[in-house]
Amino acid sequence: MTWTGGCLCGAVRYEAEVSSPENWYCHCRMCQKSTGSVVSTSAIVPKAQLRIIKGEPKFYRSSRFVERGFCPDCGSPMFFRPLNEDWLSVLSGTLDDPELAPPEGHYGVESWVSWLTIEDDLKKERTQEDEYS
Ligand SMILES: [Zn+2]
Ligand SMILES: [Zn+2]
Repeated sequence: MTWTGGCLCGAVRYEAEVSSPENWYCHCRMCQKSTGSVVSTSAIVPKAQLRIIKGEPKFYRSSRFVERGFCPDCGSPMFFRPLNEDWLSVLSGTLDDPELAPPEGHYGVESWVSWLTIEDDLKKERTQEDEYS
């Protein structure tokens, strides 16, 4: 299926061919800072399957392993792009239809804030220090 999405102001638009989506909550501190929200949700897409169809996102190198893409006009966080992987993830809230991307697990659970209640029985993983944070 084809997913479409974009930033708040509409300057950056993308589409992605997605065959087997994998979607995650991320509670890690880096995502909290980057998105301004205590938990982020993102959907993994093969790099080759994502096309920017309007505008040009900017990328901020947030660690040795990862760049984070955002709209240079409105600042909306949009992409999480590991340098050494063949996938990236799009932040699910930027999808035109976020209903398409229900998460299947929680990542970075060591930073899950105590006042956030999400009742599900999805798998939970801690951030791996040398990985994507
Ligand atoms: Zn924008
Ligand atoms: Zn994270």
